[in-house]
Amino acid sequence: MIIVLRPDAKKKDIDHIIDKVKKLGLTPMVSKGVERTIIGVIGEEDVLRVQPLEAYPGVEKVMPILKPYKLVSREFKPEDSIVNVDGVKIGGKRIVIMAGPCSVENFESLLNIGKSVKSSGALVLRGGAFKPRSSPYSFQGLGEEGLKYLKDVKKKTGLKIVTEVMDTRDVGMVEKYADILQIGARNMHNFNLLKEVGLSKKPVLLKRGISATIKEFLMSAEYILSNGNFNCILCERGIRTFEDATRFTLDLNAVPVIKKMSHLPVVVDPSHGTGKWDLIPAMSKAAVAAGADGLLIEVHPSPEDAYSDGEQSLLPEKFDCLMKELKLVAEAVGREI
Ligand code: PEP
Ligand code: MN
Repeated sequence: MIIVLRPDAKKKDIDHIIDKVKKLGLTPMVSKGVERTIIGVIGEEDVLRVQPLEAYPGVEKVMPILKPYKLVSREFKPEDSIVNVDGVKIGGKRIVIMAGPCSVENFESLLNIGKSVKSSGALVLRGGAFKPRSSPYSFQGLGEEGLKYLKDVKKKTGLKIVTEVMDTRDVGMVEKYADILQIGARNMHNFNLLKEVGLSKKPVLLKRGISATIKEFLMSAEYILSNGNFNCILCERGIRTFEDATRFTLDLNAVPVIKKMSHLPVVVDPSHGTGKWDLIPAMSKAAVAAGADGLLIEVHPSPEDAYSDGEQSLLPEKFDCLMKELKLVAEAVGREI
C-alpha cells in the first residue's frame, strides 16, 4: 500500500500518519520526493484497508501496490534515485565509470591500474578480494589483504572502491574498506546476505543472477531496501541463454525495462556480459545509449597474466580510447562522463 501525500501536507500530518501505521503493527517507509512525500507501508495490508486513510489531513490518495516489489517500484518513488557514493553520484546526469582488475593481485599492479583508469576518467576502482570461482582450485582472492590494498589505492588516487562481499560473516569487514559493497551474480538469491547488506550504511551494487528474470532481480533489491538500505545500484551483467558465441548474453533490454519499473540506478557490466575484451567497446557504447547510469569494466595491463578473467579485460590504452568514444555517445544522449 502507498499513501500519497498532498504537495502541501504538513510535517505534523506526515508524523500523524506514520504514528498510526506503526500503531497498526506495520512499517512505514517514507520517500520524500521533490514534489511530494509518499509513505510506503510494509506488512499485512488488510488492517490498513479498513482505515479511512483518505480522510486523514494531508493525504491525497491511497493505492495498493499490486507488484510484488514495492519499495524499488516507480510507484513508490516516481523520481530517479541518486546513490551518493562518498561524493560520487550514481543515477544523475553523469555516467559513472567503474574500472579495474577482476581480482586484486598485488599492491603495485593495483596502484598502477588505479592511476591509469583514473587518468582516463574512471571515478570508481573495481577489484575483487573475495572471488566466486566455479572451481575450488582456482584463485579465491587475497581476502582482507586485498581489501587493504584497495583502501590504500583509494588514499593515493581518490578513486572510490567497489568490491564483492560473498559471505554474511564478512560484511562488517568489507564495509570498513569499501565504498560500495558488490553482491555477485551467484549471490543474487542469497537472501541472508541481501538482508545483511540491507542493514549496512554503505551503498550496494547488486548484480543480476545469471538465470534471474528482471522481476526476481527487483525482488532481491527489495530485500536490501526493506532492511533500510535505499542506496542500491542494480547491475546488468549478462544472463545465460542458448547462445554460446559469447560467455553470457548481455541483456540491454533490461536497462530501459528496469528504468520503467524502478527508480534505482542501473549500471552495465560488458566484461562479464560478453566474456570477450574486443566486444566491450561496442557493448559499452550501446549500454550508454540505452540509458545506463554507469559501467563496470575489467581492465588489466597484461590480460594473459591476469589471475582471473584476462580474456574479458581491456588493456589500459584500449580503455582510454573507449572513454573518449563514450564521452561522445553520452553527449549525444544528453548525459556526461
Ligand atoms: C566480478 O565482478 O568480478 C564478478 C565475479 O561478477 P559476476 O558476479 O557478475 O560474475
Ligand atoms: Mn571478473
